[in-house]
Amino acid sequence: MASVLWFRRDLRINDNPLLSEFRQDIVLPVFIFDTQILNKLSKDDKRVSFIFYSVMKLKNDLKAIGLDLAIFYGEPLEVFEKISSICHIDEILACGDNDFYAKSRDEKISQSYKLISFNDAFLLPASYGLKKDGTPYRVFTPFYKSVLPFVEILSQNQYKIKSAKLVDFDYKSIQLESFGFEKADISHIPYIDKPMELLNDFKPYFDMYKDLRDDISKKPYTSGLGIHLRFGTIGIRECIRELILYQKEGIDTSEFIRELIWREFWNMLLIHFPKSEFDNFYAVDIKWENDKDKFHSWCEGKTGVPIIDAAMRELNATGFMHNRLRMIVSSFLTKDLLIDWRWGERYFAMKLLDYEASSNIGSWQWASSTGADGVPYFRVFNPYLQTKKFDKDGVYIKRWVSEYKDIPSGKLYDENYLLMYGDSFYKKPIVVHKVASERFVRAYKDGMIK
Ligand SMILES: Cc1cc2nc3c(=O)[nH]c(=O)nc-3n(C[C@H](O)[C@H](O)[C@H](O)COP(=O)(O)OP(=O)(O)OC[C@H]3O[C@@H](n4cnc5c(N)ncnc54)[C@H](O)[C@@H]3O)c2cc1C
Repeated sequence: MASVLWFRRDLRINDNPLLSEFRQDIVLPVFIFDTQILNKLSKDDKRVSFIFYSVMKLKNDLKAIGLDLAIFYGEPLEVFEKISSICHIDEILACGDNDFYAKSRDEKISQSYKLISFNDAFLLPASYGLKKDGTPYRVFTPFYKSVLPFVEILSQNQYKIKSAKLVDFDYKSIQLESFGFEKADISHIPYIDKPMELLNDFKPYFDMYKDLRDDISKKPYTSGLGIHLRFGTIGIRECIRELILYQKEGIDTSEFIRELIWREFWNMLLIHFPKSEFDNFYAVDIKWENDKDKFHSWCEGKTGVPIIDAAMRELNATGFMHNRLRMIVSSFLTKDLLIDWRWGERYFAMKLLDYEASSNIGSWQWASSTGADGVPYFRVFNPYLQTKKFDKDGVYIKRWVSEYKDIPSGKLYDENYLLMYGDSFYKKPIVVHKVASERFVRAYKDGMIK
């Protein structure tokens, strides 16, 4: 009889419920490279390399506490069947996730095994997203105000490692290449081998985070924490505990915590409105144009709109894009190009290292004004004004789009100039912003369900 500890998006030993809440004193820690997920990814997907690296680190960390990690490649249910032929599974412990695939996979497994699920990837359990009348919040600010008093209390819930014996099993190492993936270059991922130092090193920037986080031209004044929260190499509870500690040292981390609560908000929306993974959050029937050529231009960073092309090329090259730029490119795709938010959401899902279903779906719906807490639908981001505000000297744009290297920075936000001369040095913008945004407003109005 053994407790199986199924590591998934909680790739750490610190403050991990799996290492604390098992009831058998014999355990089998496992990680499964799930073919249902992997089969949809490209063979050089950076996230797979990051996961592989983190799984190997987890294996070593487990060894250091007298345990080990059995690593599998396959479908989870089949893997558990294989394990049960060797030892009797009493229970499977795992940290839960809220997207459709994760829920249906767990549902299937719990029909055959006792699956015990923990809330770990997010701080707030589902009951915290509710108003006094029991219905879920749909707007961020009241949600934020209602949950803020509980943030510190919930973060104090710390899981201590309990000692256990290891099931006699084959704990051999596995090579990434053995299941058809290539090792991608992930050296640019911040703090890959010492995640917990990330917050400490970000200490000098918390005080200026509110004012400087949108400055995309210089050093990014954002943390790069996303990927670590996504795969649990930093736990959200330990992260908040650390930020509260800094607050007690006189460092203002409140704005940063507020952003982490945005992450909680999107998660709550996905929990309470699971259909929003696929359908518009608000009932509006927009007739998207869905022009495939324009979509490909957007994906490849070849729209002729400087800020869009720079951001998309950075995403394609690194797997990262700054929040401000995510807002600009998502607005451009849905409102200027009139392309369904689901196309953009899927593209981000393929490319973002820190891809988080709830944040991505919520933010894409927000950007297209089909979602919760949306700006009024008639307000459309102007990519040229955004450039003037956040990359006035064109430093960011020129870093990523060499075609603009000799163009004076003021011309990078001069739409008329780009429409007139763009073809002579690269290409002119594929849409005229004013015309396109008026078209979106009309399409939205026509789609409103009366
Ligand atoms: C269209 C669009 C898609 C997005 N997709 C994702 C996604 O797939 N995964 C993801 O984690 N975030 C997503 N975001 C939110 C945000 O852009 C990223 O969290 C942030 O850019 C990650 O960089 P960072 O870790 O350096 O952020 P920092 O500014 O250092 O923030 C620290 C952490 O706070 C959280 N956070 C910050 N801003 C937001 C926000 N607006 N919404 C939710 N959480 C936030 C993240 O966990 C982030 O890692 C998306 C935003 C937009 C507009």
